[in-house]
Amino acid sequence: MHFNNLGLRAELLRAIADQGYDTPTPIQAQAIPVVLAGRDLMAAAQTGTGKTAGFTLPILQLLSTRPAASRGKPRVLILTPTRELAAQVEQSVCTYGKHLPLKSAAIFGGVSMVPQLKALKGGVDILVATPGRLLDHLGQRNADLSGIEIFVLDEADRMLDMGFMPDIRKVIALIPKQKQSLLFSATFPEEIRALAAGLLRNPQTVEVAPRNATVDLITQAVYHVDKAKKRDLLQKLIEDHSWHQVLVFTRTKHGANALSEKLDKAGISSAAIHGNKSQGARTRALADFKSLKLNVLVATDIAARGLDIDQLPHVVNYELPNVPEDYVHRIGRTGRAGSSGEAISLVCVDEHALLRDIERLLKQPIEKRLMPGFEPDPSIRAEPIENGRNKGRQAPRGAVPGRQNKPRQRPPQSTKPARNGGGQGRGTSSRHSGAGHH
Ligand code: AMP
Repeated sequence: MHFNNLGLRAELLRAIADQGYDTPTPIQAQAIPVVLAGRDLMAAAQTGTGKTAGFTLPILQLLSTRPAASRGKPRVLILTPTRELAAQVEQSVCTYGKHLPLKSAAIFGGVSMVPQLKALKGGVDILVATPGRLLDHLGQRNADLSGIEIFVLDEADRMLDMGFMPDIRKVIALIPKQKQSLLFSATFPEEIRALAAGLLRNPQTVEVAPRNATVDLITQAVYHVDKAKKRDLLQKLIEDHSWHQVLVFTRTKHGANALSEKLDKAGISSAAIHGNKSQGARTRALADFKSLKLNVLVATDIAARGLDIDQLPHVVNYELPNVPEDYVHRIGRTGRAGSSGEAISLVCVDEHALLRDIERLLKQPIEKRLMPGFEPDPSIRAEPIENGRNKGRQAPRGAVPGRQNKPRQRPPQSTKPARNGGGQGRGTSSRHSGAGHH
């Protein structure tokens, strides 16, 4: 299969060729014809599968070949859970749409609303937004969604996880009933199925090989090690193997900061990326990591979600995630687009139950390794994992009505109004804008 066979116009094929791609990924090969045909789509696909181009390309084609239903209003709305993903999706819109006269903007929290307002007032065809900030603009009548022809929900399960479902429902209520809707999600818990049932009309379902197929390309190993020795072991692994680009996951923002500082002091250049960092700091850290100025990027789950880093060679779970599915999301950051990668987990006695849950989800045991000098002390007893989040086993995402695991990245509930309460994608501080167009 070649991109030329998908019925895309020459301007898009040129942009694809500029990227050096000639073969569509499986999700692209399946999704593009469905979207071009005007059908609603429910796609089971994760980051790393090429899903962004899977919806961006046909959307650009549809917009550029048919007249706008209404003048001057956004025609496409793409909702994403995080700022990073919104910025990356909008970047894809620019990349693939560079030979077409369509305008786009990214609207997300944590940056000033003013440049976003300017972009909105200047007229935008494709709006990529996180729900909280979009609602802020809508509340101020800065945007009008009555001209939306195509609506995309990207990473719907992650939105659910982050507590965005009420906001999403509010947004959906503001867009026309008559529209094409595309829903992308890695998993389909009950709430997502219910949302899809209300939103999608006679949808075509598309599923790419489940993540486990990708997981096959990834070498996974577990080092059993005491909690107090994890940092030294990580340092040794990085130094012994001369790893130059390592994404390290911690469970908390505080843990990410502490680890990053210690690695930096030990001479391993490192930065932390999480929801409390300003957008500028995050963007800088990611750019430095991509350009190999930084050896290590320490991230929390939600901050790492949607990071577009090609062919990341090493992922380290400094701490196992509380939710087994997040393990799969994390290690999916390596071994992308067909390249192989390595995912290492440092597991202390407190985390044995989490490891068991992960292996059950993977339906296979993970190779265990020991590092001489770092063997665990058998006299150390397991303790509940801090934050009170992990006393006993956590239920998988979406399974528990009260969802203890919901606001993993949010600060404790503040007294601010909910929409400014500080989850990612809805910050209100005043750094510079993510609005952009082409
Ligand atoms: P996504 O799942 O949309 O985040 O895309 C994952 C990565 O795959 C991105 O870095 C894309 O640039 C890359 N990619 C997208 N489409 C293709 C393709 N057809 N061939 C090779 N790489 C691709």
